[in-house]
Amino acid sequence: MIKIRNIQKSFGDIEVLKNIGLDVEEGEVVSIIGSSGSGKSTFLRCINYLEKADGGSIEIDNSRVGFNRADKKEISFLRNNTAMVFQSFALFNNKTAEENIMEGLRSVKKINKELAKEKAIELLEKVNLKDRSSHYPSQLSGGQQQRVGIARAIAMEPKLLLLDEPTSALDPELVGEVLNLIREIAAENRTMLIVTHEIEFALKISDRIIFMKDGKIEYSGTPTEIMFSKNESLNKFLKTFK
Ligand code: ATP
Ligand code: MG
Repeated sequence: MIKIRNIQKSFGDIEVLKNIGLDVEEGEVVSIIGSSGSGKSTFLRCINYLEKADGGSIEIDNSRVGFNRADKKEISFLRNNTAMVFQSFALFNNKTAEENIMEGLRSVKKINKELAKEKAIELLEKVNLKDRSSHYPSQLSGGQQQRVGIARAIAMEPKLLLLDEPTSALDPELVGEVLNLIREIAAENRTMLIVTHEIEFALKISDRIIFMKDGKIEYSGTPTEIMFSKNESLNKFLKTFK
């Protein structure tokens, strides 16, 4: 079980996350939905320590890290156990697909070059890009770049995989291939938090869906509970997708 507790984050005077917390079971797929600006990305970024939260903690495998007083070792623990897939792919443009996957294995996991390469090739095969291993991001389609992004994240074998709108920067015809890959990964007993605007998709793959509003969890439930909820804000939000 991963326990995320009381995350607070302000940017200047604006309180973006208001004591937000969440328990995630091993193997659970949790989607996060909510309007633009509700704090979804900030929430994921705080978990991965890309953003330093003002308060709150995370417990993974009985090790607890307080976000606002994490030392070097604890930050490294967070980076070792969580991995992020970004909306904008965030690949290294000067590295090939294979090198992008090797990077975290070398620098964070301290795995030797041969093993990292072996693992990268294995993962490129998994995401169906074995023949693109020496391509640079600029030589790949958006969908292919994001599949590299996903391969790079799962290479780290994170205890918690974080995906922030992994398909929203893609041309419509490329969304399907990435959603299919995520569906496949979600079925592999991985623990993941996925921010998405693909509501139909979220309803299909999630064990639980969290609806965020103004930096808080406004509603949380199974896909069925979400669909039939009487929560007004949630229903108003869902209507915008119909
Ligand atoms: P979207 O659906 O548009 O991606 P979101 O739910 O992911 O929205 P966040 O990106 O977490 O929302 O932003 C929440 C709030 O925090 C917004 O009001 C945003 O302007 C503000 N914010 C986010 N990052 C920063 C920053 N680095 N500096 C100042 N304000 C920020
Ligand atoms: Mg966002």
